Amino acid sequence: MILIIGAGLSGLLTGYRLKQAGIPFKILEARNRIGGRINTIYKLNNAPIEMGATWFTHQHQNLIALLHELEIGYFKQFMNNTAFYQSSPTSSANIIQIPHQSPSYRVSDGTSYLINTLYEKLDKNDVLLNQSVKEIKIHHNTVQIIANEVFEGTKVVLAIPPKLWSKKIIFTPNLPSDLLRIAKQTHTWMEDSIKVALNYEHPFWEHENLPSTLFSNSGPITELYDHCNHEKSKYALCGFINSSNNNLSIVKRRANIIEQLKPFFGKKVEQFTTYTDCVWSQEEHTFEPSEDFLFPHQNNGNPIFSNRLFDGKLLISNSETALKFPGYMDGAVYSGNAAAQKIINNL
Ligand SMILES: Cc1cc2nc3c(=O)[nH]c(=O)nc-3n(C[C@H](O)[C@H](O)[C@H](O)COP(=O)(O)OP(=O)(O)OC[C@H]3O[C@@H](n4cnc5c(N)ncnc54)[C@H](O)[C@@H]3O)c2cc1C
Repeated sequence: MILIIGAGLSGLLTGYRLKQAGIPFKILEARNRIGGRINTIYKLNNAPIEMGATWFTHQHQNLIALLHELEIGYFKQFMNNTAFYQSSPTSSANIIQIPHQSPSYRVSDGTSYLINTLYEKLDKNDVLLNQSVKEIKIHHNTVQIIANEVFEGTKVVLAIPPKLWSKKIIFTPNLPSDLLRIAKQTHTWMEDSIKVALNYEHPFWEHENLPSTLFSNSGPITELYDHCNHEKSKYALCGFINSSNNNLSIVKRRANIIEQLKPFFGKKVEQFTTYTDCVWSQEEHTFEPSEDFLFPHQNNGNPIFSNRLFDGKLLISNSETALKFPGYMDGAVYSGNAAAQKIINNL
């Protein structure tokens, strides 16, 4: 029995590959939902909105290959060649030309459609929610995991960000000290970001020939993009808020955002049908305070994560440990495939 910790993209994919190879496994997930940093919110009559991972490019070939394999569609992020640009809190509504850039893509029907498609392919009894892993004991021939229940297996796959396992899970015997030190200093991509989305009945910005993109140096919103569904029949704007707004109430954040957007989009911006935001620094199964300042992507893809540990009984695998595009969905796919392949080869 292989025990996989974490039902994000990498853990679910490892599970799916093991299932294809006929190898028994269980996925232990701390949250009461699957997907980790992928979380699309679906509400009736609204465009699906992404509170987590959203975009990828043609360079992300591991992710694209998985989408093709699972027959999941994707579409180009809508972006015309203009954007609002706000250089300071008091500056007027400038419209700038955006230089041509290679397109980004979004998963049709939302990124969680990928997560849900993987989950549908698994036996539901093999994915256990509300199992926050606290301790891992590596014995001579077995591994024991202490979560809300105790689990026994032959190998364990750590499909969670290194900063989380290095600071929150007790290992017996101890992990090598250099591995532990680097894991504590490994940045978890977007762990302290705030995502925001506003749904609308009509794309008033299009009717009024306004850009749907906004870049601001002052915030609270720093970036905003068109977030219509792929059929372009349901409408939304979605972007990021400066992470210093994490301590405000949702009501205050919403009020500040509308105040910021009104000079650009006019009063119609107040007529949203739904406001949603997600403060990732309040998500204990994603965010973990760092002891030192970490640069974005610091130690992501460090080769130390690929070292063989405890005679192959402990495998480290998640987006941040990938050798290609670590921190991104593509990295999660790379790692999910690589962990499963190591297990299959070993057996
Ligand atoms: C706001 C935001 C925007 C992003 N935008 C993009 C983007 O546009 N494009 C892109 O490519 N990437 C983006 N990313 C990054 C992308 O989401 C991640 O790279 C990818 O989803 C990581 O998958 P993972 O499986 O490696 O880890 P995670 O998704 O972090 O999954 C880890 C899982 O482990 C669980 N877990 C944690 N601790 C424990 C424990 N002790 N016991 C059991 N389970 C545990 C968690 O609950 C989680 O479900 C974004 C991330 C965020 C937060």
